[in-house]
Amino acid sequence: MSTPALSPRRLELVALVRLTRGFMPDDEGEALLDAALRSCRAFGGAEAPVLVEIGAWCGKSTLYLGAAAEETGGVLFSVDHHRGSEENQAGWEHHDADLVDPADGRIDTLPHWRRSVAGGRLEHCVVGLVGDSPTIAAAWRTPLAFCFIDGGHGAEPAWADYRGWAPHVAVGGWLAIHDVFPDPKDGGRPPYELWCDAVASGAWDEDGATGSLRVLRRVRPG
Ligand code: SAH
Ligand code: MG
Repeated sequence: MSTPALSPRRLELVALVRLTRGFMPDDEGEALLDAALRSCRAFGGAEAPVLVEIGAWCGKSTLYLGAAAEETGGVLFSVDHHRGSEENQAGWEHHDADLVDPADGRIDTLPHWRRSVAGGRLEHCVVGLVGDSPTIAAAWRTPLAFCFIDGGHGAEPAWADYRGWAPHVAVGGWLAIHDVFPDPKDGGRPPYELWCDAVASGAWDEDGATGSLRVLRRVRPG
């Protein structure tokens, strides 16, 4: 069986995403897109599939997931306070001085995120939710076809995202977690620990790994 050719639209978005700054290697981003497409197609029935990403930064993962939303008639809610995680602040490894707003000296990735989404012509199916992830999760009511967790990677924010958002994934929906490193030499523990917790719960089937991206499919309510 031959692989179907990518549509011109998909090629356009994949080319744009490669120029977008962020923390998502190409192969992991394409695996993310692929998982989101599968989940939206499997999940989509009468209702438009709803996707949520936690941790958008400048919109790199947003473009991959937005492509899946557009292609399946779904909508992506992209959650970020746009102030950066602990590891993005001055003096830390993933800091970028030109993302600091000179007006107040704080990181502000929102203008960059907006530019990415507008550049991808995805504003019709991507909605930004600017604020604290656990606060939004606590008020959220819509069952999710797909949830991508890539917010703060410290123990407290990572567990708060997992505890806040994983319960919203519908049976038959998917959960993807980024920066899962089984070997501590490769990166921090919390995303790996969330993934272990999900696997041990029995509520999820493993549905693929690419680099540090892990994908799970909900098989029973959690
Ligand atoms: N997915 C992005 C990278 C995300 S970096 C990419 O593809 O490049 C992690 C993001 O999580 C940062 O933008 C940070 O602002 C956000 N974040 C961290 N803690 C958060 C919280 N409590 N609420 C909302 N966003 C948060
Ligand atoms: Mg990440």
